[in-house]
Amino acid sequence: MGDGPGVSGDGPWTRLDGFLRADPGDPGCTRCRLDLDVYAELTIAVGAPATLLPGVATHLESCADCQDDLTGLIAAIGHTTD
Ligand SMILES: [Zn+2]
Repeated sequence: MGDGPGVSGDGPWTRLDGFLRADPGDPGCTRCRLDLDVYAELTIAVGAPATLLPGVATHLESCADCQDDLTGLIAAIGHTTD
């Protein structure tokens, strides 16, 4: 969480993600999914994760696959939290 432009990590996935991204504000599926569990928890906890993880929110607007993953995560977390 809380990473900026100077994100560490120079592995092949990071580079591939950067290569594939179309929107400069969209971190892409790979990066999005790293934060998706946090995003799901924030959705349940505070209901407004877009202000905390704007990149993920931007990506979710254009990616049905990640939206499905988020829905599944929220359901899973919701069922396991008491
Ligand atoms: Zn995606």
